[in-house]
Amino acid sequence: MIMREALREFINGLVPEIREMRQRLHRIPELAGKEHETRRLLKSEADKLQPIYWQPKLGTDLVFEIPGRDPGKVIGLRADMDALPILEKTGVGYASGKEGLMHACGHDGHMSILMGTAKVAKAFEKHLPATVRFIFQPGEEVLCMGAELVEKGVCDGLSSVYGFHNWPGLPVGKISSKPGIFFAAANEFKITFRGTATHGATPEKGNNPLLPAADAVIRLQGSPPLFPGRECGNIGMFSGAEKKLECHPLLKLYWKVPFAIPVWRRERPMPFRMRCARQTENSAVSIPLSIISEIICR
Ligand SMILES: [Zn+2]
Repeated sequence: MIMREALREFINGLVPEIREMRQRLHRIPELAGKEHETRRLLKSEADKLQPIYWQPKLGTDLVFEIPGRDPGKVIGLRADMDALPILEKTGVGYASGKEGLMHACGHDGHMSILMGTAKVAKAFEKHLPATVRFIFQPGEEVLCMGAELVEKGVCDGLSSVYGFHNWPGLPVGKISSKPGIFFAAANEFKITFRGTATHGATPEKGNNPLLPAADAVIRLQGSPPLFPGRECGNIGMFSGAEKKLECHPLLKLYWKVPFAIPVWRRERPMPFRMRCARQTENSAVSIPLSIISEIICR
């Protein structure tokens, strides 16, 4: 009980420092894989704890351990580091200092909370039952760097690993969890429609991919939904000709598809890709043009 009180007191005393750290991180948003300044700031904080560092595996990741009493047991705690290509218009005093970049997903908060947890672990290290591995992971927004870090061994030897993400709809002070699947794994697709360029005055001489592509958007996002149950998808970009009169040979759709499945079940996106391919092929045959569609899983 005394221990719990001491912990509570220490954490309460730490809150202003963590808040200030979050604001410093918020000022320096960096995109996936480029979190160099972010890493430097985190490292300068971690140095104060004299932890055991891991060599970076992806350049900007920061991984360190604070040893506990049982050297055979290691628990992992993870936070993401990257920001988004979004212009900040909040007007807050600690707003992004980088034009067009913003910590709009809250990873600045995640990093501060994880560093705060490391400070708590260090302060109470004599009481730590297990070693704690702190994992600052770059590139959450590009969907693949977490898996790369795991493949490079960052989870080796862990008895368990915990991560979290803020959820703005929850009341302050509440956390939410449940057994089984909770947050989603995600994937990204690019579909390219290839036609033949022609002058706008002679459409019969070309193959305009715009119509089948527009049809595919409706098929993929319309009703009935392509993503029943726990899957959902969003077409985020539709790009083609840049000149009004030209029938451009290429038209691309980009979309991000979160799957509510555990990331380790990597075979699961395949049925989605097959369904997606079928829908785009259906779009292509509905127009008497020679269209090739490609679906690329990154
Ligand atoms: Zn996020």
